[in-house]
Amino acid sequence: ALKAGIVGLPNVGKSTLFNAITQAGAESANYPFCTIDPNVGVVEVPDERLQKLVEIVVPKSIVPTAFEFVDIAGLVKGASKGEGLGNKFLAHIREVDAIVHVVRCFEDDNITHVSGKVDPIGDIETINLELILADIESVDKKIERSRKNLKGGDKKVVAEVECLERIKEALYNDMPARSLDLTDDERLLVRDLHLLTMKPVLYAANVSEDEVSTADDNAYVKIVKEFAEKENNEVVSISAKVESEIAELEDEEKAMFLEELGLQESGLNRLIKAAYRKLGLYTYFTAGVQEVRAWTIRKGTKAPQAAGVIHTDFERGFIRAEVVSYHDLAAAGSMAGAKEKGQVRLEGKEYVVNDGDVMHFRFNV
Ligand code: GDP
Repeated sequence: ALKAGIVGLPNVGKSTLFNAITQAGAESANYPFCTIDPNVGVVEVPDERLQKLVEIVVPKSIVPTAFEFVDIAGLVKGASKGEGLGNKFLAHIREVDAIVHVVRCFEDDNITHVSGKVDPIGDIETINLELILADIESVDKKIERSRKNLKGGDKKVVAEVECLERIKEALYNDMPARSLDLTDDERLLVRDLHLLTMKPVLYAANVSEDEVSTADDNAYVKIVKEFAEKENNEVVSISAKVESEIAELEDEEKAMFLEELGLQESGLNRLIKAAYRKLGLYTYFTAGVQEVRAWTIRKGTKAPQAAGVIHTDFERGFIRAEVVSYHDLAAAGSMAGAKEKGQVRLEGKEYVVNDGDVMHFRFNV
C-alpha cells in the first residue's frame, strides 16, 4: 500500500497527530489486520460517494479503501550528519511515497520549542536542509560511481550523469529535487536513489485547540501557506490535540463535537484526502449486492492492472470490464437506469480507469 510519512521537529505535535490516526484506524472494523507495526497507522479514506452507492445498491457490507501513515520520529538538526536517530530516520523516509511535514503553529509556554520560539518557516527550513544534505550525499556518491562508467560512452550513463548534475546544482542552491522540471525518463534514471527531496510534500500546520475553527486567520498558518504556495504545495491546518480527542468519540458524538466546533469535517479527514490527492491516487468502486467497495489505484492505471488490485487472478484472466462513471450512476439512480441510457460501457485491456469509475470485471479463471 502507498504510505505517507509524518515528519517534523520534536515537540511540534507529531505523536499527538499519529495517535489520532491510529485511534481512528483501530475503530475501523475493516482493517484490523493492519495493526502489526506500531509505527504504521491505517486509516479509511473518507469518500462521500460510497454512501450514495450504498443507497443505490443496498449491499450487505461496505468497505472503504485504506491509506497508511508512518510515524517517523527523531529528526533533529544535524540528522544528515548522524545526530539523533540520524541516518536511521532518513532511511525510513526513503520508504514512504509522500511526506506530511508537521509544523508547529501553536503557542504554549509549557511546551519547549527546540529553537526557543515558534518559528514555522525556520522549522521547515531546518528539516528541508537535513533532507537536502542527505540527498547531496547520495547524489555525489552516485555521480562518482557513474563517472567511472562514462568511458564506455553509454548514452544512458551520459544522460544519467547530466541529470544528476542538474539535481546536484539545485540541491547546492537549497532547492529540493522535486522543484526541477524532470521528464519521466529522467525520473526513471534517478529513481533508485530514492531521493528524499523528490518526494511530494504536504504541510500540516498544527494550531492550538482554541483556534481550530479560525485556523486560517492564524498568523503562523498564513506564512506557512505563503511559503507552501511558492513550492506549489498544500497546507492543511489541523489541531492535533483536538483530533486526538475527536478520534476517541463514537460517530454520533463525533458529528456533534464537530458541529460545536463549527467544522464541516475532521482535520484528519481533510489531511487524508489531501495526502491521497498529493500522491496522484484515484478511487474506483465495485458495487454488488454482497459488497460496495472502494479501491485505490494510481492515476493512469489501465483496467487489467486495476483489476489486479482486487486479485492477481483478475488481472491475469482479464477479458473486459463493464464501466459506468459514478456521476452517471448516481444521476440514473440504478444500474438498470444507467444501462438504459447507454452509460454502461464495455471496455478492454487498454482502458485507462478514471477516478470514480464503477467497475465490473469479466475474467477467465
Ligand atoms: P512530537 O515531539 O512532534 O511528537 O510532539 P508531541 O505530539 O509529543 O507534542 C509535544 C507536546 O505538545 C505534547 O505535550 C502535546 O500535548 C503538545 N501539543 C501538541 N499539539 C498541541 C496543540 O495543538 N496545542 C497545545 N497546547 N499543545 C499541543
